[in-house]
Amino acid sequence: MNTTLEMSKQTELQTAKNYVEQVYRTIKKRDPHEVEFHQAVKEIFDSLVLVFAKHPEFIGKGLLERLVEPERVITFRVSWVDDQGKTQVNRGFRVQFNSAIGPYKGGLRFHPSVNTSVTKFLGFEQIFKNSLTGQQIGGGKGGSDFDPKGKSDGEVMRFTQSFMTELSKHIGSDVDVPAGDIGVGSREIGYLFGQYKRMRGNFEPGVLTGKGLEYGGSLARTQATGYGAIYFVKEMLKNKGLSLEGQTVVVSGSGNVSIYAIEKATELGVKVVACSDSDGYIYDESGINLDTVRRLKEIERARISEYVIEHPTAQYIEGCSGIWTLPCDIALPCATQNEINEEAAKRLVLGGVKAVGEGANMPSSLEAIEVFLENGVLFGPGKAVNAGGVAVSSLEMAQNQSGVSWSFEKVDRKLHKIMEDIFQRSLRASEEYGHPGNLVIGANIAGFNKVAKAMLAQGVI
Ligand code: NDP
Repeated sequence: MNTTLEMSKQTELQTAKNYVEQVYRTIKKRDPHEVEFHQAVKEIFDSLVLVFAKHPEFIGKGLLERLVEPERVITFRVSWVDDQGKTQVNRGFRVQFNSAIGPYKGGLRFHPSVNTSVTKFLGFEQIFKNSLTGQQIGGGKGGSDFDPKGKSDGEVMRFTQSFMTELSKHIGSDVDVPAGDIGVGSREIGYLFGQYKRMRGNFEPGVLTGKGLEYGGSLARTQATGYGAIYFVKEMLKNKGLSLEGQTVVVSGSGNVSIYAIEKATELGVKVVACSDSDGYIYDESGINLDTVRRLKEIERARISEYVIEHPTAQYIEGCSGIWTLPCDIALPCATQNEINEEAAKRLVLGGVKAVGEGANMPSSLEAIEVFLENGVLFGPGKAVNAGGVAVSSLEMAQNQSGVSWSFEKVDRKLHKIMEDIFQRSLRASEEYGHPGNLVIGANIAGFNKVAKAMLAQGVI
């Protein structure tokens, strides 16, 4: 009897594997150059085999086939005039991936590396992340290959206005609600909002999140992703009887996510010894002075190398990838995708890392994740760890809808609770599907199940 049951389970698992692999092969064949998108899909699909083995009735409903095909991909020309009077042309993107559980929601990224593949990988991840928050928000993402670095304020404004002139035709508070991401901070959101208002002729605060407090923004939105990442890592450690206090931490990047992760970590008794930008990293054995980093990056838009001018005992090392050779208890990659490869993961393990929390989206390669899991490193995947940003964006939308502004403490309390819930949801799913403590599997399945149920309920669309 037991052997028969076991054999039938094996057959179901094999059928599920065949189904998932067949859909994966199709997307690779259809868009062979979209490597980042394939990577994001692979990571999620590997987990979903377990769902389709448990629910063979889901196969045949076209769930995965529909899930990997965005509901809409918009690309557009963005022409603008630089300070020399020369016309420049960039490319704009918005991927409206999945609206099964709410309006599309996800940030805009301005960086030279942005293309359809990058936008699709980010939009795909966003579906599951948004679902995990427990809020009613679908998945989307967008951006441009425009590089704000080295541009004057006027150039950034003219580019951003041109970008929004086209994007405004496709978004709205119940349709699609963009926010910031790499290269899109409070300045850019302000220009985007102003141009949207001008194009539409009405004041619609719910159309964008990450707004300034004067025109509908939420307190604690700026801090949300970084703080949320630390709340998640705290839960992950607590679950193993460990605490954040006294741990040595390395954080990559020095942008929005990094700065507020450093702030919250330091407040909770952690020593952050390193952070970086795309040129190099700083190592300050006595603990990073956040005021200096914040001034350099948020106000002066300077390079992280300038930190050592003020703190001569610290070191600046050229090249950002070397940051993972530093020994630490906790690593928080908060810069960009694939910043930790297999080699870097091995170095981190050798350096004694106990936990990794992905503040950025997909910062670890598939091979790197394997190294962490095989070596018993506590691993928090990006779609769970960095979900605090979009969660508070959703709270911003709720405040806009009801016309109220909550206190910093109230939003922060809600954020903390959401991050605890995301951790518990992911942990529970990992246990239910036979991989206790594997939060990659747990977060993927917990995020997927809600979206899948909503898609099935809404018929074939
Ligand atoms: P910022 O633009 O504020 O900061 C990005 C930081 O990462 C900068 O220090 C930047 O250095 C560095 N960086 C960017 N690209 C590269 C690269 N190719 N190689 C090395 N370093 C790089 O962005 P955010 O802090 O907002 O975003 C960081 C990550 O967090 C991204 O993966 C984003 O998708 C993710 N995220 C952000 C959320 C948010 O609310 N902002 C929410 C959820 C996820 P430099 O200045 O030299 O470019």
